[in-house]
Amino acid sequence: MLLSKFGEKFTSHSGILSLMDDLGNALAGNDQMIMMGGGNPAHIPEVDALFRQRLQRILDSQSEFTRLVGTYDPPGGEQTFCRELAAMLRRRFGWKLTERNICLTQGSQTAFFMLFNILGGEAANGHNRRIQLPLAPEYIGYSDCGIGEDLFTAEKPDIEEIDAHTFKYHVNFDALNVNEDTAALCVSRPTNPTGNVLTDQEIEQLDGLAKDNDIPLIIDGAYGLPFPELIFTEATPHWDEHVILCLSLSKLGLPALRTGIVIASEQIISAVSAMNAITSLAPNSVGPLMTLDMVRDDSIMTMSRDIIKPWYEDRMQFACQEFKRELGDLPWAMHKPEGAMFLWLWFKGLPITSLELYERLKERGVLVVSGHYFFPGIKEEWQHQHECLRVTYTRDRDTVRRGIAIIAEEVRKAYASD
Ligand code: PLP
Repeated sequence: MLLSKFGEKFTSHSGILSLMDDLGNALAGNDQMIMMGGGNPAHIPEVDALFRQRLQRILDSQSEFTRLVGTYDPPGGEQTFCRELAAMLRRRFGWKLTERNICLTQGSQTAFFMLFNILGGEAANGHNRRIQLPLAPEYIGYSDCGIGEDLFTAEKPDIEEIDAHTFKYHVNFDALNVNEDTAALCVSRPTNPTGNVLTDQEIEQLDGLAKDNDIPLIIDGAYGLPFPELIFTEATPHWDEHVILCLSLSKLGLPALRTGIVIASEQIISAVSAMNAITSLAPNSVGPLMTLDMVRDDSIMTMSRDIIKPWYEDRMQFACQEFKRELGDLPWAMHKPEGAMFLWLWFKGLPITSLELYERLKERGVLVVSGHYFFPGIKEEWQHQHECLRVTYTRDRDTVRRGIAIIAEEVRKAYASD
């Protein structure tokens, strides 16, 4: 079958597809597998209970039920939800926006696909414009989104060594080359895979760069602010006309409802809504209707702060303690865990690659993710890319403890074999 270039690109084995396949196959082949690889949110009983109550109220009302399943929304998504969300953001943060600054998509992943291709790629002036990732490691889900080739550029970070076993990445502003072929800047905050949270000062500086160059700053808040607030450090929510803030209902516990939220200038919102119309007529209504009441009374924020964030923070602290105990004085370090649901480990001078370590761990029944996937846009070889692992810590304590003990054993063996 002769495929188009587009068809070839999107059906060949992309990084994210092979990663998802590998995780899926490993799991299917061994039901004892300790899953420390995925990005599924946890099922927190209090949060589940709130969503069940809301669903029951919808089911009890014929008109709400019809609204839930029986009506196409406009291409920008459920308008009452967009209006109430705009009101909440004005009330809580004083942002100057209305529902015309908000649209919904089928998950935020779809929003990135649309935004990257609306902004990046071959422009009307013939230039190939790129999405600049100011700091890699960055989310693997971006890397295959370009309809054309070579959509991303990225910079290596500055590495702050906080103590013998803790470090933090910072944007290396001296290396950032924003020019006429830069279509937009994009950062995830908190970052998947590292749990890094860019500081308010870094965000301000990136915001200034975007404004000065008349390009958007895309902030991926899938784990961030103002919800689900998987953030364990000081950070202020940020939005302005030239910022495109992408949020999601997934990490609140609703990934199957596929609801992404784009908050941007009216021009960007019209563009994304137009793409919604072409690709799917309209986004689904279930996510926005399930959370409408919570946006009306701000409880989406209080639930995030009072229930979801402490739940993840507690798991994070437990996993950190276990790693410290198990890895002892090996030459390892952990990115300061400031947010999201992962720990990012760096094994300095590891005699095997992180991919080999991943394979050995899979053999031992522990699934993690090799760090080398998370450097989209970094073109030159960099040893650091092969020395890191992403570990998800959301499982129960006993499972996490067992998984970490096996990781430590394999790492110790790898260093000993040098
Ligand atoms: N952004 C980041 C950083 C993510 O980790 C994910 C998913 O794990 C997404 C965006 C996409 O999430 P969704 O499409 O479920 O909203």
